[in-house]
This record gives sequence, structure tokens and C-alpha cells, in this order.
Amino acid sequence: MNIPFFRPNITEDEITEVVDCLRSGWLTTGPRTKRFETEFAAYVGAKYAVALNSATAALHLALEAIGLGRGDAVLVPTMTFAATAEVVRYFDAKPILVDCREDDFNLDIADARRQAEKARAQGLRLRAILPVHYGGQAVDMAGVLALAREYGLKVIEDAAHCCPAAYRSGPDAPWVKVGAESDICCYSFYANKCITTGEGGMACTNDPVLAARMRVMSLHGISSDAWKRFTAAGNWYYEIVAPGFKYNLTDIASSIGLHQLRRADGFRRQRADVAALYQTLLQDNSALILPQAHPDRLHSWHLYEIRLRLDRLSLDRAALIEQIKAAGVGVSVHWIPLHLHPYYRETYGFQPEDYPVAAKLSREIISLPIFPGMLEEEIRQVAATLGGILDTHRRW
Ligand SMILES: *Cc1c(COP(=O)(O)O)cnc(C)c1O
Repeated sequence: MNIPFFRPNITEDEITEVVDCLRSGWLTTGPRTKRFETEFAAYVGAKYAVALNSATAALHLALEAIGLGRGDAVLVPTMTFAATAEVVRYFDAKPILVDCREDDFNLDIADARRQAEKARAQGLRLRAILPVHYGGQAVDMAGVLALAREYGLKVIEDAAHCCPAAYRSGPDAPWVKVGAESDICCYSFYANKCITTGEGGMACTNDPVLAARMRVMSLHGISSDAWKRFTAAGNWYYEIVAPGFKYNLTDIASSIGLHQLRRADGFRRQRADVAALYQTLLQDNSALILPQAHPDRLHSWHLYEIRLRLDRLSLDRAALIEQIKAAGVGVSVHWIPLHLHPYYRETYGFQPEDYPVAAKLSREIISLPIFPGMLEEEIRQVAATLGGILDTHRRW
């Protein structure tokens, strides 16, 4: 049996809503997107939600809304996806990369402080920090916020893996949903994210000025929404206040999102169950280090990232992935750190050892399949396939 890395979980509810949308005659941003925004804002506990066609668009608009300019600098973890840093480059600003922690792969606050000091000494105008919640386990937000206060930074969260995720400052402290304490929080509804609209994203904030700017810039810098202009109640008059972008989410996509959102908590529980069974099946394997959920984190389990103990194995990660794939199991790697990619290496002269933890982890990590609706026999087959390959390549 072939096991994909991810299988989207779509029911008749999503399908019927899409068909109803198609029959309604309103395909692009309209009433279903408004409803999706309202329900999403309520779900994550934000005052404002702007629906967009990707998380990348959300991150771009967030940086535009805080007024990022040419030559400014932004702290970005090196252990992230392309999107988190490319949006900084859109402004001809500089991503200041930060190393990650070994235990949860999230950005290391101590290194962020070192990098901030270095940037300051170079006379760079450091404007923001862009933490990523790796795999859906929240970063040390208290540390991020303290650093942001110290250096006068805006906090823009890359919460692409966090629908939902939460954290607390101790066993007796209240849970805080990701997004509650930052300036802007960006979510992804890409096909394999926690909830999906095929492609899509959301920018959430409690600041009305930032929300208004992102909304205007999401649709050509026009001062009122298209659907307000074109419905009978709307106005024909509009003003272009800035050269904006075309980042709005369609009602077809929002039709899927509305029903995915209602299932988000259930999806999370199902992914947590997959993670728990992997833990049971793989915990005795001495060639592996398994991901651990911190007790003060509500982990979304978007990713289940294992580490190989390469010192105990006679094959490397690439060879192992090849064998797992040959056995019909879809796996992936999240991620090759940014500082190892040609563009960042050549533009900023990075060496692998500039970020030693990320460089080391990047040789050891593999993401196993994890998705709601994954069958127990599929989870067992993944564990057995992986265990079998590791056993035949042990060093003793
Ligand atoms: C998927 C992802 C993004 C980009 O999301 P899109 O909706 O595809 O633009 C950004 N950051 C991280 C960490 C991601 O995993």
C-alpha cells in the first residue's frame, strides 16, 4: 500500500458549498469570504482578519503595512520555508538570519539577540522579527516579545502551521492562542496545511490601522472592496490610494475554508493521535530522536519531524529517503535552512557553520506522513518500513 505524505481531508460539506458558490453567480471575493474572515477572526481570537490568496501574500502585506523600507533589516529564522525571507527581499530589505534550537527547531532567542546586536553595530535599521512556529509548536513568544521591546521591533508571526496552536507561560497560566500577542499573524491554507482552501492565507491583527492598510493593499490599493463596489448597495466611486497588489481570496476558495475551519480542532486531535502512535511505535529505536511536544504548548502537529542518529547508522539521510520512497511511503524534509541555499549563500556570503544547529539538524531530519484521516495501518506501515530500513543499516 502506497502512503502519501499528505492526503487532504475534504467532505461533502466542502463540495456542496463550492457547488452552491458556483451556482450563486458570485465567484470571487464576496459574501463567503466575508463570512470566512468573520469566523476565522472569532476562532483565533483576533479583531481583524484579511483573507488572502496565500500566507506569502499575508507576510508581504504585513511588512508593507508596518512600513518596511529599502535597506531595513528583519530577523528571520534560517530554519524556515522560502516565503518567510523572500518577502523581506521584496522590499530590498535584509533578512538577518537566526539559528534554531535543537529541541523544537524554533528560533533561538539568544542567537536572535546576538544577530540583533551585530545588526545594530553595523548601523542597520532593524524593524521587525518574523518568528515561525515550527511544525505547529509555538516559539518562545515571551522571549520574542522581550527582544522586540528591547530593540523596538514589530512582531509578525509566520503561523503557516498553526491552525490551531497555543502556548502558556506555565502549568497554571492560561492558554494563549498563537497570534494573540503579536502585531500581525499570518496563516496558510495551502493544500497540505492544517486546514486548506487549495491555496489561501489569512492576515490577522488587533490593530485597525494595520488591518485597513492590508485590506487596501490586497486589492490594487483601492479604498473600498470590489464586492461593495459592484453590488447594488455599493458605490461606483473608488480611489486608488497606493500601487497595491492582487492578493484577494476567491469565494470558491472560502467555500472550502468555511467548512475546514469548523473541523480544525478535530483535525488537530487526529494529527495528535497519529503523533502519539508514532511515538509508541518508534520510541525504542535508538537510531532516532523523536519530536516532543512541550507541556506548555498546544502542538498543531502539522509536521512530525524525526532526527536520525547518523553516528549509529551506515547510511545518510538521502539514501534513507530514497529507500523509504521506494517502499511506497511519502516523506519530506522541512527544511533545508535558508543560509545553505545558493541565493542566500551568494548574496550574503553565509557559511554552513554560521548557523551550526540548523546546519546539523538539516542533515538529520525527515518529515513522516501525518494528516487527519490517516489510518492506523498506514501509521504502522510507515513505522515498520522506517524501522526495517534502520535495522539493516545499524552500525553494530
Ligand atoms: C507553507 C508555508 C508558507 C507559505 O504559505 P503559502 O500559503 O503557500 O504562501 C510560509 N511559511 C511557512 C513556514 C510555510 O510552511
